[in-house]
Amino acid sequence: MSFFPKLGILGGGQLGKMLIQAANPLAIPIHILDPNPNCPASMWTSNLTVGDFRDYDAVYQFGQTVDVLTIEIEQVNIEALLQLQKEGKTVHPNPAKVQIIQDKGLQKDFFKKHQIATSDYQVFPNKKAVLAAIEANELQLPFVQKLRQFGYDGRGVQVIRTEADLDDLFEEPSLVEDLVDIDKELSVVVTKGKSGEIVCFDAVEMEFNPKANLVEFLFAPANISTAIATKAQELAIEVSKAFDIQGLLAVELFLTKGGEVLVNEVAPRPHNSGHHSIEACYTSQYQQHLRSILDLPLGNTALKMPAVMVNVLGEPNHTGKAKYNGLTECLEMKGVYVHLYGKEITKPFRKMGHITILDPDLEMAKKKARKVLELLKVVS
Ligand code: ADP
Repeated sequence: MSFFPKLGILGGGQLGKMLIQAANPLAIPIHILDPNPNCPASMWTSNLTVGDFRDYDAVYQFGQTVDVLTIEIEQVNIEALLQLQKEGKTVHPNPAKVQIIQDKGLQKDFFKKHQIATSDYQVFPNKKAVLAAIEANELQLPFVQKLRQFGYDGRGVQVIRTEADLDDLFEEPSLVEDLVDIDKELSVVVTKGKSGEIVCFDAVEMEFNPKANLVEFLFAPANISTAIATKAQELAIEVSKAFDIQGLLAVELFLTKGGEVLVNEVAPRPHNSGHHSIEACYTSQYQQHLRSILDLPLGNTALKMPAVMVNVLGEPNHTGKAKYNGLTECLEMKGVYVHLYGKEITKPFRKMGHITILDPDLEMAKKKARKVLELLKVVS
């Protein structure tokens, strides 16, 4: 018997796995719903229900078996969560807000309605409408086109710079944004507790791998002035107040070359930009999420030590059973914390794990991070 209610998580990917790891010290009982019986969380729980979190019946039935529900992926069946909520089940984050976040167009409308600083945008039902807007001079190149739904990790986002790029326009409903002149990409993970208190992690800085369009390096803290760091946190708090959801909200931001801070998008769950918090902060983002949704006091988010996080991605030309070349050498390095997600199959640029490097000197941590990336190769 646990002291805590039974917590059901929709999704058993790496975020689900790390939520279970954070739940263990408090003996919080976790149940997972995921379509893949060998998902990363499966090794960590005997309470795995195999089923699709996008399917109404699967979510509704799973919801009946737990006391509190949360998510580790946005693309879940909202109708089932709304029904469970109506029947008195505790669901965090609020599914009505997740529904807005699921759709990049609705998310932008939400920012606009709440006067949250973000780039200018228009939404279009299809490619033809985008072309018509260009023809009518209502839209100018260059711009960024994003699928309104079902994009993931940079897939579903493209920069359209020239007339020749117009051939590649997405056919599906899309959001078209001004191309921001980005100086740095930042993220602030913010949490609202039950009684309304709002606690932020420090702003972190993300460097992207342009080929994979995935975060390659994350630096904590971000190399920005105190004024920008404060501005980033203030903006994240504003966003958190507007959404008013219990649980984590990761707020992705752009620092423009002109010194403006703009909101790019949000994720209502643990986020890639908070992985380092497991070793680098007094409270990890995972434990913070659990504390928030279970009405417990929020933890101290201060950094214990500067950190660099690198994602471990599948090598470009390898698909098949995963092998980790260079793992021993990485494990020999001091201050290097390796997380492998246990995914059986590697694919080009698939997120197979991450590594956090702690060092009192962030520059030294960066050096080690580069070494780690040189050493560790996920191949088939
Ligand atoms: P995803 O949901 O796939 O993470 P994002 O909206 O975060 O998509 O976009 C992925 C990346 O594309 C961003 O991290 C950034 O590098 C680039 N990007 C997105 N929007 C813009 C923009 N308006 N201007 C310039 N670059 C952008």
